[in-house]
Amino acid sequence: MSRVLNTLQDDTICAIATAMSDAGIGIIRVSGKEALQICDRIYVSAKKERTLLKHEPNTIKYGFIVDGDRIIDEVMISFMKAPHSYTCEDVIEINSHGGMFVMNEVLSLLVREGCRLAEPGEFTKRAFLNGRIDLTRAEAVMDVIQAQNKFALESSRSQLQGSIYESIISLRKDILYQMAFIESALDDPENYDLTGFPVKLKETLLPMISKISSLLQTTDEGMIRKDGIKTVIIGKPNAGKSSLLNLLSGSERAIVTDIAGTTRDVIEERVRLGDIILNLIDTAGIRETEDLIERIGVDRAKEKIEEADLCLYVLDSTSEIDEIDKDIFELCRGKKTIVILNKNDLTDDIKISKDILPMHFSEGQDDSFPIITASLLNREGLDELKRTITDLFFGGEITPKQEVYITNTRHKDLLEKSLGSLKLVIESIDNELSEDFYTIDLTNAYEYLGEIIGQEIGDDLVEEIFSKFCMGK
Ligand code: GDP
Repeated sequence: MSRVLNTLQDDTICAIATAMSDAGIGIIRVSGKEALQICDRIYVSAKKERTLLKHEPNTIKYGFIVDGDRIIDEVMISFMKAPHSYTCEDVIEINSHGGMFVMNEVLSLLVREGCRLAEPGEFTKRAFLNGRIDLTRAEAVMDVIQAQNKFALESSRSQLQGSIYESIISLRKDILYQMAFIESALDDPENYDLTGFPVKLKETLLPMISKISSLLQTTDEGMIRKDGIKTVIIGKPNAGKSSLLNLLSGSERAIVTDIAGTTRDVIEERVRLGDIILNLIDTAGIRETEDLIERIGVDRAKEKIEEADLCLYVLDSTSEIDEIDKDIFELCRGKKTIVILNKNDLTDDIKISKDILPMHFSEGQDDSFPIITASLLNREGLDELKRTITDLFFGGEITPKQEVYITNTRHKDLLEKSLGSLKLVIESIDNELSEDFYTIDLTNAYEYLGEIIGQEIGDDLVEEIFSKFCMGK
């Protein structure tokens, strides 16, 4: 393993592993070679005896955290012996009462007795540095904690089980074999013959290229499924945008008003539509639609729309289509857009229907936006909206189709780089360049893939990745 890390510190660390808020139970985690000795100095059994050094691994005991004669808290304490623990070190977990004050008191005692306060992610970093998990699995730990929907949870769970690690390992193994063969042949031409090798190498690399390409193809959908669809709600004043926002966010936070443009508070929200997450951007602009186009100008409005993955274009079906609607339509061109024909309940006044709308907008154009009818005031239309989004983004299926999804930009960038390097090898083969050229790009591809799983990665990057973790993990 060519890991170049030297940051593994061998001191004993401690942190509150549960949420920083008052709760029934809190867990204080201690890891390192002094864990048992340090905890022994602040723990007594139910019979008030110092028994921790005799504590059987993988058992949990009832007792007290004490400061001299003073009882700090009544706890359950468990011990996991190295290397069979989360960090591969001796780990003690103290289940105390979950009040912030009491947990901090226990933590202070641990620090007084020789522990260092852990940095965010340091327990998982130790698990990685001690070789128990690779970097993709370490990252998955955080993703499991932060998962916002079923997909995000399942995909990070599968990453935690090693799905990405296995794919990368197998690609690396194949590249290494080719690199070794070239090296042997160059060193020992009598026993290794390179005749016909380029053709064979190409045959080996093409399936690898398509494997990496297929992994990369999962990223857009994977990231959207996991992190949400950047959505902008657009339409003229009074079309029903606030009503849609309220309906989506399930709250009255965006004030519905029939005086156009009176609400000016900035609202950015993440809302869930079943298993779909929508990240609503620039929701303040919702009640400033005229502004969006007339005041801030077409260019900036276009920027906002370009930033989004999805435009929800709300139209009041009781008003005639005018030039502003046509401008809005122009802005949405080329973007995934769903037209919501609102106020469907006012049947006597309907001026635009599902059938006539395309005539207004699509004449001579390729774009045909899905159109749904809704009565947002009566909370009608969300199911159809959900179905339409599912069709547009997930090919009609809310259940993920792939076994592995790439949902991490770091992995995506490195896969793209390794793909680029493998394609260069193919180019070298096609241009009949010498074998040394293959080696350079094969090595690069091998190293980029290695970075994904953390086998070729510097200390600074490790620091950066783990610093994003939460405390106590
Ligand atoms: P916005 O300016 O686009 O944000 O529009 P609002 O959501 O503030 O709605 C403007 C007005 O239309 C309000 O009086 C709403 O109650 C009304 N409205 C919104 N949706 C519907 C609907 O589906 N049916 C009817 N009848 N009125 C609606």
